[in-house]
Amino acid sequence: MDLFEYQARDLFAKHDVPVLAGEVIDTPEAARAATERLGGKSVVKAQVKVGGRGKAGGVKLAATTDEAVEHATNILGMDIKGHTVHKVMIAETAPEILEEYYVSFLLDRANRTFLSIASVEGGMEIEEVAATRPEAVAKIAIDAIDGVDKAKAQEIVAAAKFPAEVADKVADVLIKLWDTFVKSDALLVEVNPLAKVASGDVIALDGKVSLDENAEFRHPEYEELHDKEAANPLEAAAKAKGLNYVKLEGEVGIIGNGAGLVMSTLDVVAYAGEAHKNVKPANFLDIGGGASAEVMANGLEIILGDPDVKSVFVNVFGGITACDAVANGIVQALELLESKGEEVTKPLVVRLDGNNAELGRQILDDRNHPLVQRVDTMDGAADKAAELAAAAK
Ligand code: GDP
Ligand code: MN
Repeated sequence: MDLFEYQARDLFAKHDVPVLAGEVIDTPEAARAATERLGGKSVVKAQVKVGGRGKAGGVKLAATTDEAVEHATNILGMDIKGHTVHKVMIAETAPEILEEYYVSFLLDRANRTFLSIASVEGGMEIEEVAATRPEAVAKIAIDAIDGVDKAKAQEIVAAAKFPAEVADKVADVLIKLWDTFVKSDALLVEVNPLAKVASGDVIALDGKVSLDENAEFRHPEYEELHDKEAANPLEAAAKAKGLNYVKLEGEVGIIGNGAGLVMSTLDVVAYAGEAHKNVKPANFLDIGGGASAEVMANGLEIILGDPDVKSVFVNVFGGITACDAVANGIVQALELLESKGEEVTKPLVVRLDGNNAELGRQILDDRNHPLVQRVDTMDGAADKAAELAAAAK
């Protein structure tokens, strides 16, 4: 989960990373009061989860409250790389900025470690610097157990050639930033710019944080960080039901058990769709190992509620939960939905294999639901589901 800048700023503040005060608003007029509270001037900053706001005109200095309102008027509603600005942060202005640095910590999957990236040439051109003069960007691996202590922070500072007069201050920020990274279970914390200001202090002027959603269970405070406005309504509904669902841009609804099986089902359906008006999978949905009737009903409800879906492919390989239980689940799920007054009109293609497949197939045949078709191979079922979706397209 990526955070907005103001959320990153709050997180930094909680861990004593030096930041400037600010508040987030969503109307131009609110910029006036907020700027007044900051002493009559402010920086007006677009809150969108994409970089390059400064270059796009989304970061403006306001020397007066009127100017703050004017900038907020221009920035609210602005489109920055496809992201509409709904909120702006009214931030305290930094004292004169003398230098802009870049520092970050991130998970380095390829090297199975954590990584620190630092450069004394931070600011809005950091991508350019990294691309054209990689030697100006230091990369230091961080051991997960050892973390960042004073010695490690000094190693980063030396590698990136920070000037002597800020070395200790930058090292201190690095230690606190690592603390933020670890304690909040982040995948990325980035400060750009880390500004050296006239007083000689260093301040985190802009932050980017990505949190690991797998760690949400130990961070109840993450809940309020979710951007509910931006969430896809089907994904939000699925999440509320505890389903592992991702909306895609196709017509064939997919339900399967096991992430690997569902991933390969997406591939098989996309391939089959090439012969049927190019229909594609409409979603990823893994109902996991214990596919009870209720979980199946929840899954079907989400998928059938997707207006893009024209047919559904239920692909189950019976394991611990055997195929007869899954077949009963499908039958009960359809009855459950029909009893809730939800008319099921989209055709379902079901492929059952693995543990107790014969019994499962028999249950479906006995029930003989007019919308349910049984196809016993994965390729055959994918083709049938694609054909049905194409016919309804
Ligand atoms: P980004 O373009 O999305 O990365 O947005 P930033 O928050 O990094 O802002 C872009 C640039 O605006 C920074 O590199 C700074 O030069 C400048 N900036 C940001 N905050 C302030 C501030 O409080 N005062 C001044 N003078 N400049 C700022
Ligand atoms: Mn920035």
